[in-house]
This record gives sequence, C-alpha cells and structure tokens, in this order.
Amino acid sequence: MSAGRFAPSPSGDLHVGNLRTAVLAWLLAHATGRKFVLRIEDLDRARARDPRPQLEALRAIGLDWDGPVHVQSRHVARFDAAIDDLRRRGLVYECWCTRREIVEAVRAPHGIPGQYPGTCRHLTEVQRAARRRERPGALRLRADVARETVHDLLHGAWTGPVDDLVLRRADGTPAYNLAVVVDDAHEDVDQVVRGDDLLASAPRQMMIARLLDLPTPVYAHVPLVVDDQGRRLAKRGGAVTLPRLAARGVTPVAVLALLLHSLGGAVDQTAVDAAVDTGEPAALLAAAVASLELARLPRDPWTFHAPGDEAPAVR
Ligand code: GLU
Repeated sequence: MSAGRFAPSPSGDLHVGNLRTAVLAWLLAHATGRKFVLRIEDLDRARARDPRPQLEALRAIGLDWDGPVHVQSRHVARFDAAIDDLRRRGLVYECWCTRREIVEAVRAPHGIPGQYPGTCRHLTEVQRAARRRERPGALRLRADVARETVHDLLHGAWTGPVDDLVLRRADGTPAYNLAVVVDDAHEDVDQVVRGDDLLASAPRQMMIARLLDLPTPVYAHVPLVVDDQGRRLAKRGGAVTLPRLAARGVTPVAVLALLLHSLGGAVDQTAVDAAVDTGEPAALLAAAVASLELARLPRDPWTFHAPGDEAPAVR
C-alpha cells in the first residue's frame, strides 16, 4: 500500500509550522487512502536530539502513524547500496571543494548561485590520487540534465535547476537528497507533503530517483508559517511550540483547531469546542479528512499569532 509521510529532523521541539505540515501530510494521506509513515531524519548527528518530544507533540494533536517509526540513521547500508549502484554506472565522482571554493567559483563569470560549478568533475586520476592523500573527498552525482520539472499539487508544474549534488559528504554521512529519495521508495512513500522551503530540492530528488530507477512521488509543498514580521518561524522564536503554548493555557487540541482552520478547512465551532473540552482531537481530524479540498488549500504563507499575543498595531 502506498504511503504519505512526515519526516522531521530531530533538532528540537516541533513548532506550529512543522505541526501544520504534519497535519496536512496526515490529512492528505488519509483522504487519498494511503498509509502514513513517520520517519526521523537524524543523519546530521551533531544536531540530532531526542526525537521523543516530537513524537509526543504529534500524538498530542491526534496524529498517528502506521508501523514503526523509521529512523534514517539505521538505513546507511541502503544509502551505500544506492551510491554503489550509481558508481558502477560511472555516475559518481569524488570532490574536494570547500564551501568557500564553491562560493568563489560561482561568483566567477558563468557561475550559477547555488549550483556546484563542476570543478572536480574533470580531475585526472593523478590529481585525484594526490587529493585523496590529503583528505577524504565527498561523492557527487554526475547530473545528466540541467533542470527537471516536478508536479506539485499546490505549485503545478515547477521547473528548477539541478547540479552535481552531493551524495555522501566528506565525513561519510549520506546526503539529505539521496537519503530522502531512497527512504521514500523503500517505505512505499509516493506522496510527499513538506514545507515549500524544500521545493527547490524536489527537482534534484527527482533526478536521483530517475537515475536509480525509482518512482517519483506526488509532491505538495506547503507555504511556510511566518511571524508578525513575516519571518519564518524558528523553534526558539517565542510561543510557537506546544510546551510554550501550553504554558499560556493553549491546549494541543486548540492548536490543532487553529491549524485546520489555517489549512482552509471548514471547521465547525461546536465540534472545536467539544474537542477542546474533552481534549480529544480524533473527531476534528476525521471531519477534516472528509472535507479536505485541494482547491481550498492556501497558496500563501500563513501568519501565526500566538493566542494571547497582542495583535500587531495596524499602521
Ligand atoms: N527532514 C527535513 C526537515 O525536517 C524534511 C525532509 C523532507 O520532508 O523531505 O526539514
């Protein structure tokens, strides 16, 4: 059975923007008869924290998942196998460029910001051997196209540039783009709902999937949640997590009701009051699945005012 998913990085408490994405991913998966998979993306070991508070937050707003929680750091053999497959087909090369070298190279004429300029693509075997003696290199994929078009339920056909992206970092860590593609395919995920800060990654991921002969999922990149100043929410940016909101008397179910409302759903106030009174979100979620309409999903960022905060002065 195919699946939708939520794939947080365990870098701290989920904020309302993360929770809103999770709610939409859950609703869309259920409205389309899919399973819902939860995956902890903990490859960045330096930033990885205990994921349990994130799981508790999801449960508190009524979200559940099918099967065990998938933990990405346990899938390294899977990522290695995918890299080996690409390598056997001559699609991988080593790269020793530093961040600074890449920034300087893209500033040069013909450089495209955000795009790896291909510096190490054409090294000779002798040059490679010399660099290997100095330090380990990263592995990059030889991109076979300059752009890809993805199909997104909210953005339509969206074309973005692709480049020789990193598959494995110099410290041996599999790169995000590769890990997401391989894990999604392995976990039968064919519907990817996530923040639209990752929209530009979708063409890259599509190229990886194509080269690995894996299916491309349906995408829905959700507009971000911003604060009163139009800044993207940050976990440390005030009352934006469930524990911080609970300290102001805002319950998880009240937060869920707010999120459902922000997603364009017709939220019945009597049902909300009953759910808040009982602390039981299931009925709200079931009604939201039944009434979910793609056309009503917001295309613009949502400004979050923490309940209890003064509304910003109108100038
Ligand atoms: N782990 C990523 C994040 O928390 C999301 C990856 C994805 O959904 O593809 O930002």
